[in-house]
Amino acid sequence: MKKIILVSRNICSNITFSRYKSDSVRVRFAPSPTGYLHLGGLRTALYNFLFAKKYNGKFILRIEDTDQTRIVKGATDQIIKDLEWAGIEVDEGPSMGGSHGPYRQAQRLEIYRNQVEVLLKNGSAYHCFCTDKRLQLLRKEAVRAQEIPKYDNKCRHLSSEDVMTRLKRGDPSCIRFKISDQEESFDDLVYGQISYNISLNEGDPVIVKSDGYPTYHFANIVDDHFMNVSHVLRGVEWQISTTKHLLLYRAFNWNPPKFAHLPLLMNADGTKLSKRQGDVKISYYRENGIFPLALLNFIVHSGGGFSKDLQRHVKPKCYTVNELAEQNKY
Ligand code: GLU
Repeated sequence: MKKIILVSRNICSNITFSRYKSDSVRVRFAPSPTGYLHLGGLRTALYNFLFAKKYNGKFILRIEDTDQTRIVKGATDQIIKDLEWAGIEVDEGPSMGGSHGPYRQAQRLEIYRNQVEVLLKNGSAYHCFCTDKRLQLLRKEAVRAQEIPKYDNKCRHLSSEDVMTRLKRGDPSCIRFKISDQEESFDDLVYGQISYNISLNEGDPVIVKSDGYPTYHFANIVDDHFMNVSHVLRGVEWQISTTKHLLLYRAFNWNPPKFAHLPLLMNADGTKLSKRQGDVKISYYRENGIFPLALLNFIVHSGGGFSKDLQRHVKPKCYTVNELAEQNKY
């Protein structure tokens, strides 16, 4: 078997979690079934699971399957099996249900439909009738002028009569969220204070597509709210989206969860660990006779900041899941 060396910024030593009340912790792993579970995904699931375990909280599995064009057949079942094999126990999810279900986004469309109405009514969202052709032209024009290609928010300014007429006529439309032109900040539990003004780089984002399906950003925050998620622990690639999510929380007048972004697992040469590499698929380890607990220890060993002997590479022992949960210093 090819030897993989992984590196990552030390997570736990940077984290400044305060103590949490038992039972108040609810975390989730929210994969999109666009491929099989790989090491990076397993690591996100593992840190969420250990965090829930440490605080007697709940670990939720939510399948984010709203992008119907990218779904890989059988991926959801395989993700569920891979987590089971790894010993990561789910408290609420598609297989066992729970009090905050359903746990597949494609089964929650009515919830999104109701919630988008709230934003349309309070003026935070609007119907957009711009055609693909217009959007493409805008993009081309921006590239030609060496500007950042972004939507120009044209449909923000349509009168309500105009909107009604077009909707009645059956013109295809999507729904966009009005983002404000200001810097948003939040305290990332791993990275510290993060500030970003998203309107500098993008126009009003689509939250419901013309096929009626919500986009990731919208479905994700609606679900985190209704599933009572207390902490969002996810890959750092999502950090840039968090200020957008905070604007959405504000538009609903909801309290956001706390956010901790996990540095990416990388190959030792600094290149991104990719799903396309067969040897980071969880099934690869299973098929090659790797014990699940050994794999979990290997993951926390890669920049996890767990116990000293793991950090110093002094005869590392294989910790049980309970020991790992206890060792995290959150
Ligand atoms: N569905 C997203 C993913 O594929 C979830 C990101 C998040 O945890 O918010 O990673």
